[in-house]
Amino acid sequence: MTILGAGTIGIEVAESFVNNNMDVTIVEQSGQVAAPFDSEIAEIVAAELQAQGVHVLLHHTIKEITDNGKTLVFDNGTTHQTDMLFLGTGVQPNSQLAADAGIKLSEDGHIIVNQQLATSLPDIYAIGDVIETTSLITGQPIPSLLSSAANRQGHLLADVFNGAPLIYKGFIGAGVAKFFDLTVSYVGYTEQMLQQAGINDYRSVFITPFDHAYFFPNADRVNFKLLYQDKTGKILGGQAVGRNGIDKRISQLSVAITGNLTVTDLPSLEIPYSPPYSSTRDVLNIAGYVAINQLTNRTATIKLTDIPETDFKSAFFLDIREAGKPAAGSVTPTLNIPLSELRERINEVPTDKKVYITFRKGLGPYNASRILAGKGIKATMIEE
Ligand SMILES: Cc1cc2nc3c(=O)[nH]c(=O)nc-3n(C[C@H](O)[C@H](O)[C@H](O)COP(=O)(O)OP(=O)(O)OC[C@H]3O[C@@H](n4cnc5c(N)ncnc54)[C@H](O)[C@@H]3O)c2cc1C
Repeated sequence: MTILGAGTIGIEVAESFVNNNMDVTIVEQSGQVAAPFDSEIAEIVAAELQAQGVHVLLHHTIKEITDNGKTLVFDNGTTHQTDMLFLGTGVQPNSQLAADAGIKLSEDGHIIVNQQLATSLPDIYAIGDVIETTSLITGQPIPSLLSSAANRQGHLLADVFNGAPLIYKGFIGAGVAKFFDLTVSYVGYTEQMLQQAGINDYRSVFITPFDHAYFFPNADRVNFKLLYQDKTGKILGGQAVGRNGIDKRISQLSVAITGNLTVTDLPSLEIPYSPPYSSTRDVLNIAGYVAINQLTNRTATIKLTDIPETDFKSAFFLDIREAGKPAAGSVTPTLNIPLSELRERINEVPTDKKVYITFRKGLGPYNASRILAGKGIKATMIEE
């Protein structure tokens, strides 16, 4: 069984076939699974696919399907045999009827509507996947390709027809999916989407707190990424992956976005606490603390792409992983000093060079930066 496209649908479908004891291969032209999730989240999904026995072929573009769907020919000339093929490569608006009627469409064929969901022709309205609406994150035009948007637009339109003075304010985009034992969820824009939209003044937070109190059985990590606008703290998006409480945190963030909260409001969110369900300072509170640390320069972080080229030759890249932990981050470290030894070995960190901490996942890099700060060394954590 071969699935074309490692997006949300492709992976959901893979699970169904694996559960039916089929040998499943996913073919994906980009370099990661689970687009449009960012790489921090996608790597965890990729590990789950591997653990479940799904074969994944990244950077493979299919040029031709021959042999009645049984042979796939890749653009590099190699082939792949399959008994069955599933296409999960995305959707396009079916708007020809509207075009023929003279309704104004966007360049990519979506029906343009106003805030009352009216098209450019009188008495014709449109809702759902086929329309282009406005992103509440960026203000840019965006299709609203989700069921909850379509259904709420339908309800709103019925209210409008019945004289209610309501408007459709726009689309945030909040989704959730089950990938085998993992839940993945997102709201708003990912880093990839921001870059595609030409928005670069964003900052990111990546934290991995427990889904409920660490001392209560079965606590598991919530891998949570928050994106926000530099300086203003406007929340631009969030993504999470893990086994428990994932959609809850993204739902909370979605409400925060709807209410125009900024990252500086997140520590103030009162989240119901009891050990089996959450922590006294829960995921969004912690994400807010980290963002505020970044905004106030209490701890310095930098995007990998913003590191000056010369620093890769002259700076000191400190890796604080404990022995036996898998490699993290894409920068080659200058030296590994496990966090547990950093206080004793701090003299090995130069005071006359720029110091970077090679990855910032979890609390470790933050604690390392505070230990270094105690010795007057201002280290910068790399955001990736
Ligand atoms: C496999 C899959 C899984 C999904 N899972 C989720 C999910 O978990 N959560 C989520 O939020 N969204 C999900 N979505 C997206 C969701 O299905 C869509 O956002 C939603 O269905 C959009 O509703 P709609 O009414 O705009 O369009 P549709 O549901 O596509 O309905 C359009 C209807 O119009 C009919 N039609 C088209 N042209 C004509 C014509 N000329 N005459 C008569 N009828 C016509 C079509 O046959 C169709 O029945 C998923 C989509 C897919 C494909």
